[in-house]
Amino acid sequence: MSRNFQLPEVIKPIAKVCQEHHVDAYVIGGFVRDLILNRKSKDLDIVVLGDAAKIATAAAKAIGPNVPVTVFKNFGTAMIKTDEWEIEFVGARKESYNPDSRKPTVSTGTLEDDQNRRDFTINALAISINENNYGALLDPFQGLTDLEHKIIRTPLEPEITYSDDPLRMMRAIRFAAQLGFTIEKESFDAIVAQRDRIKIISMERVAEELNKMLMSAKPSIGFDLLFKSGLLKIIFPALHNLHGVDTINGKSHKDNFYHTLEVLDNICATTDNLWLRWAALLHDIAKPPTKRFDPEHGWTFHGHEDKGSRMVPGIFRDLKLPMNEKMKYVQKLVLLHLRPIVLAKSEVTDSAVRRLLFEAGDDIDDLMLLCSADVTTKNEFKQKKYKANFELVKQKLIEVEEKDSIRNWQPPITGEHIMETFNLSPGREVGIIKNAIREAILDGDIPNEFEPALQYMLLKANELGLTPAKK
Ligand code: ATP
Repeated sequence: MSRNFQLPEVIKPIAKVCQEHHVDAYVIGGFVRDLILNRKSKDLDIVVLGDAAKIATAAAKAIGPNVPVTVFKNFGTAMIKTDEWEIEFVGARKESYNPDSRKPTVSTGTLEDDQNRRDFTINALAISINENNYGALLDPFQGLTDLEHKIIRTPLEPEITYSDDPLRMMRAIRFAAQLGFTIEKESFDAIVAQRDRIKIISMERVAEELNKMLMSAKPSIGFDLLFKSGLLKIIFPALHNLHGVDTINGKSHKDNFYHTLEVLDNICATTDNLWLRWAALLHDIAKPPTKRFDPEHGWTFHGHEDKGSRMVPGIFRDLKLPMNEKMKYVQKLVLLHLRPIVLAKSEVTDSAVRRLLFEAGDDIDDLMLLCSADVTTKNEFKQKKYKANFELVKQKLIEVEEKDSIRNWQPPITGEHIMETFNLSPGREVGIIKNAIREAILDGDIPNEFEPALQYMLLKANELGLTPAKK
């Protein structure tokens, strides 16, 4: 079957330059895959059977004035950036691997050599930009059929492909999640066989793939495949440990791994925030180390939210994720993830709502999303009840916030003010008075306003035997 593909306009001046230089070139890889799948992409890879840097430099001039081109001399590649596109030019290459590294020995090759070195048949598709067959698909491995059948398959022998560069195992699973494709059985078996090779890949690269998986519409596909392949146990043992069901005296707990994946898919339907997705993935992470069986109450996971939030920094460090405010945000959501549910299950008092607002601050809406996602019961009655109670909590949150402005709470009386009034230097008493004012506001004993807080300060100070300094 010959089919011609519509390439973007920006290819025309590039094709003209190639013709002038008598050099053949092809659009290749992810762009072609996404073009056929109708997925938007702004990264164009062009493989050049000649001097890629020279072609790129001439092409940048042909595209327009002041189009920047960056040449990476050591790699023989070059990149052009326009408002719309990032276009990478690479010389066609042939690769051979040695077992200790994922860095191959590279030499100049033909288009076929370059297609052979690609990870999957769907990523090895090329479209000609040459005059004699402009727009023609070059598909030596039936990648188009695999795209139609939604199959992930390696062009060459899978065990060798994965062993040569084990990052491809993560990529296979990531594409399965991102595109909703199936990894062909022989290929998946090869991943299982080669899983230990993942250890030669840096955690940064692994985490990059995990983040891409997390940003897909249904990340459970990816994490389930990671589990089934045995990769998860190697790269992320704490998540792997959530799997399994124990039964004592006929009582079983739910499988916390699959529960977590359900929560993750649920949250993905409501947010594109990567870190909220991480919070969903980690919300129950401490269930295995806190699991107890109590003959009276059955299975319990007391304190898993607290322990889980304390596990977050170690997990982020191991996975080389940023140890910054993103990590703190995930920690906070893991710590608070039960609070709205507890509220929804009991009577929703103003003071409980005020405390939750105080602790969650601006992340309260994200916390509510996480909690709604955490409701995975299949019991319709319970589901309806929780949802209705959540609405009540949300309503209360709005009312209390309007009345008391707790969300970004700043104490109406500062420590400075207390020190000045009683002529104190920084110390225990200042803390006691400040805390007492905060607690009184959160409990609703006094309004969140200056004058009542001032009176309360005087009262508390009096209890401590302090009197205001004379001015
Ligand atoms: P995405 O942009 O979603 O990551 P992509 O397929 O465009 O997908 P890139 O990492 O930009 O991914 O790679 C571009 C192309 O380079 C791929 O389509 C594939 O042909 C090839 N490629 C990338 N990584 C590998 C690899 N580890 N082994 C073999 N070929 C690879």
